[in-house]
Amino acid sequence: MKNLLFLFIMLPSIMFSQNNALAEAFKNGEFKKVIEISNIENLRNADDFETHLIIAKSYNEVGDFKQAAEFLKQCERLMKSEWEKSWTLVESIKTNFGTGNIEAVRQNFADAKKVKGTKNSEKALREIALLIGFDELYDNWKIKVTENIIFHFDNSISDADVEKVVTTRQKAFNEINRIFNSNLPKKIDFFVWNQKENYNPYLKSSLGFTRPTLCVSHNRINQTPGHELAHNISFWRNRENRRTKFINEGIGVCFDQQKNNKFEIAKAAYKTHPMNLIDVWKKQTDLGNEILYPISGAFVEFLFNYDKAKFFALVENQTYQDAEVIYGSQLVNLINEFIRNLNE
Ligand SMILES: [Zn+2]
Repeated sequence: MKNLLFLFIMLPSIMFSQNNALAEAFKNGEFKKVIEISNIENLRNADDFETHLIIAKSYNEVGDFKQAAEFLKQCERLMKSEWEKSWTLVESIKTNFGTGNIEAVRQNFADAKKVKGTKNSEKALREIALLIGFDELYDNWKIKVTENIIFHFDNSISDADVEKVVTTRQKAFNEINRIFNSNLPKKIDFFVWNQKENYNPYLKSSLGFTRPTLCVSHNRINQTPGHELAHNISFWRNRENRRTKFINEGIGVCFDQQKNNKFEIAKAAYKTHPMNLIDVWKKQTDLGNEILYPISGAFVEFLFNYDKAKFFALVENQTYQDAEVIYGSQLVNLINEFIRNLNE
């Protein structure tokens, strides 16, 4: 989100353009709204660079790379200054990577080196390079490719561990996608860092995490086989989804491919930390991950076993309000039953 703000600061003139609503939605990170407005106002033929860049970035953010490419063509037509070229390349990298066009990504990075960007566009370039494996720190990493995954291994990980991770994660992919039946736009780029602690100083983020639009996961060596894969796969069941932390993390835990008893683990967590599940679902951030993950994982498992069709509808639209529509008057009964079981 910080990135965005930088980009917005880079583009002050849009504040004074006719597209105030567009600029406002973009500033707030409401990318779907940006896309909506651009359709309503028919901005496809607008003649200023910034409008096209904002729309291209918004399409990238929701994983619609075909549309992003269309708007980037217009950016290329309209860009004049170095900073415009630099930002266009940042977004082109995402679009090309998102569709698995690695040669084009390589060319984008080579072109970006020749352009004098701004401090912020250069920073954005470094960040995307780190995220997708184009930073020079990955130069000596080991690459392994399977049917659905491109693995990137920290060079210090032993060959035996590499072999183990490759086998178990590809198997996890098969198991999870046998259930979700998703169409991913590319193989998952699966980075494995040789660390057990959470914080990663290079990515300046806790591991693991997933950027499902780009099919990228960064993992600790000791993570479960399926958690991050499940985030990628469940996202691409329907790209036009509405996610919440509660259900999304529940999916990650439920399908992590560990043969443990999720319900017993949730029971123990609930015992130390009883809470109002509906509040947690609605507010999302109130609860620490060490409680939220086991509870949501067991809850998702419970809903999956209750009714598959309804569960998949919830995968696509995950808010509490969505669940009220999907499960109707049964929803409250289901939640009460789940909590009653936890209390037993
Ligand atoms: Zn997760």
